[in-house]
Amino acid sequence: MKLIIMGPPGSGKGTVSERLEKEYGWLHVSPGELLREEVVKGTRIGKEIKSYIESGKLVPDRFVVEMVKLEVKGKDNYILDGFPRSLDQAKSIEELKIDIVIYLDVSEEEVIKRFAGRRVCEQGTHGYHVQYLPPKKEGICDVDGSKLVQRKDDTPKVIKQRFKIFHEQTETVRKFYDKKKMAVKIDASKEPEKVYDLVKKVVKEMKKQG
Ligand code: AMP
Repeated sequence: MKLIIMGPPGSGKGTVSERLEKEYGWLHVSPGELLREEVVKGTRIGKEIKSYIESGKLVPDRFVVEMVKLEVKGKDNYILDGFPRSLDQAKSIEELKIDIVIYLDVSEEEVIKRFAGRRVCEQGTHGYHVQYLPPKKEGICDVDGSKLVQRKDDTPKVIKQRFKIFHEQTETVRKFYDKKKMAVKIDASKEPEKVYDLVKKVVKEMKKQG
């Protein structure tokens, strides 16, 4: 199964993708995570893209598109989390023959409430929420044992910018997939467990259809 998970910042894309990865063993590809890792490691690419991420802008396609294509090359089962985010990106992966696009629908007011409690491990890989998705040990990542921190782009000013980009660019991606009848909208305003159940229902239905 080839899946795209879309939605506004803070809609739970990463959480849903991580759970699908665990349950079905599908590869979870998150350009956001991969890019953050480059920044943390201080690589040449990391240095070039840091300012885009920290100001909430989209990283230029030359860093993102090939990176995603390389990750999924030759694979049949994967989740694209937060990609594509622009019409150009969507058009550039037409050849991948994506099966379904899941759109996590949640209001801006609701996600803004969630941001204060969002945490991520120091590598920028595993996401938590102090209230809705706490780690087993407070302040420590369950998976890699690193300290949990707030994302640099989770400040009110940057969140505003990320929403602006979302409305300007990412909404057109949804319309693109809507027209192709590939997008399924899910109510993502509920707690993580309920949202995941709804996603699973869609996935199971897709699997039945083969
Ligand atoms: P995310 O972890 O998905 O919220 O992404 C965090 C940041 O990484 C975004 O605000 C962008 O700066 C960058 N990013 C993630 N996905 C993409 C993408 N598909 N295209 C360009 N930039 C991206």
